[in-house]
Amino acid sequence: MSSEPIPSGAALLSRYPADKVIVDCDKCGMQAKYDKLEMLEAGGDRALTYLLEAIARRKGCAKLDRFDIKNICGARYANIQ
Ligand SMILES: [Zn+2]
Repeated sequence: MSSEPIPSGAALLSRYPADKVIVDCDKCGMQAKYDKLEMLEAGGDRALTYLLEAIARRKGCAKLDRFDIKNICGARYANIQ
C-alpha cells in the first residue's frame, strides 16, 4: 500500500487540512469520501498526489490512463484548494 516513494516537500496525507478526505472527478462523476485517520491507519502516510491517483483508480475512473491530455481524469481533492 505504501510502497511508492514520498517526494521531499510533497503534501502528505497526515497534513490534509480536514478530517474527511473528499475526492471527486467532474469528468467521470466519481466521488469518494474517506476518513483521514482511517486511511493513515490502513496505508500509512502517503503523498497526496499518489493517493489521488490510487483513489481514482480504485473508484474505476475510466479516464485515468488516457493519453488525451484534454480529456484526462479530473480527480481532485474537493474540500481543499
Ligand atoms: Zn475521472
